[in-house]
Amino acid sequence: MLTAEQDSAARAGLSAALEAGAAILKAGGTALDAVEASVRVLEDDPLFNAGRGSVFTAEGRVECDAAIMDGRNRKAGAVAGVRSTRNPITLARAVMEQSPHVFLAGSGADAFARAHGIEAAEPGWFETTERRRQLDEILANPDAPFDVGMKYGTVGAVARDSLGHVAAATSTGGLTGKKWGRVGDSPLIGAGTYADDRAGAISCTGAGEYFIRLGVAHEIAARVRLCGEDVQAAADALIAELSGLGGKGGVIIAPARGKAGWAFNTPGMYRAMADANGAQRIAIYGDE
Ligand code: ASP
Repeated sequence: MLTAEQDSAARAGLSAALEAGAAILKAGGTALDAVEASVRVLEDDPLFNAGRGSVFTAEGRVECDAAIMDGRNRKAGAVAGVRSTRNPITLARAVMEQSPHVFLAGSGADAFARAHGIEAAEPGWFETTERRRQLDEILANPDAPFDVGMKYGTVGAVARDSLGHVAAATSTGGLTGKKWGRVGDSPLIGAGTYADDRAGAISCTGAGEYFIRLGVAHEIAARVRLCGEDVQAAADALIAELSGLGGKGGVIIAPARGKAGWAFNTPGMYRAMADANGAQRIAIYGDE
């Protein structure tokens, strides 16, 4: 359960991110610009597990993962283990647009950022005392379940623009206490992030290993495209399959046609949505 202050701070962060993306879409901008803008706001907000405020690795460092995908042409960019780039999502976009590659990892990804003029940040920029406390807790009780339920905080954004194009972006510090260069689903195209104008845009959060095994984001898109399934039904089916394997998490979806939605099997998921008429919805708990 969140305190009243944590609750309102989380909602304020979600609202700011929603506004950043919605303003771009309202002005006729692209879904790609909108999802990047929304995720940058959340990366800079220390409450969320992405960019500043990312969780710590077992060695007490921050290593960020991010991915972005453009539904118009299925171009994608991703980075993993980034340590000195303020906005990993912007770096992922640069990989997509300014390199012949899709996925860069570790010091090479940070070096690519410097070579392309993307803003750097010192390690201290990313670190917060609350994330340090969470690492200390997990190191003191290595067998206790920790990163369960609402404690995930990966951020993601999906959007459909006025031309009907979709895009998805996901950014995370991963899981508290991760080691050995562990990489989750978030930067893996098709696992935690996917966008295809023929189906929709999907971004995932949760226990990444399960999302990787199921290829959740791509499978939702594939069910819509190949089976003509409704995107919400496809998302519900994948979350049910995830539950069956013991995985926890959720997805947000912006379909190529129809209403945006989400699905999750955790007690709650930080989430927000806006439509073209200006209607907004911000929620945290499952029953909201
Ligand atoms: N999916 C992320 C990962 O496994 C964690 C999260 O969603 O918080 O790295």
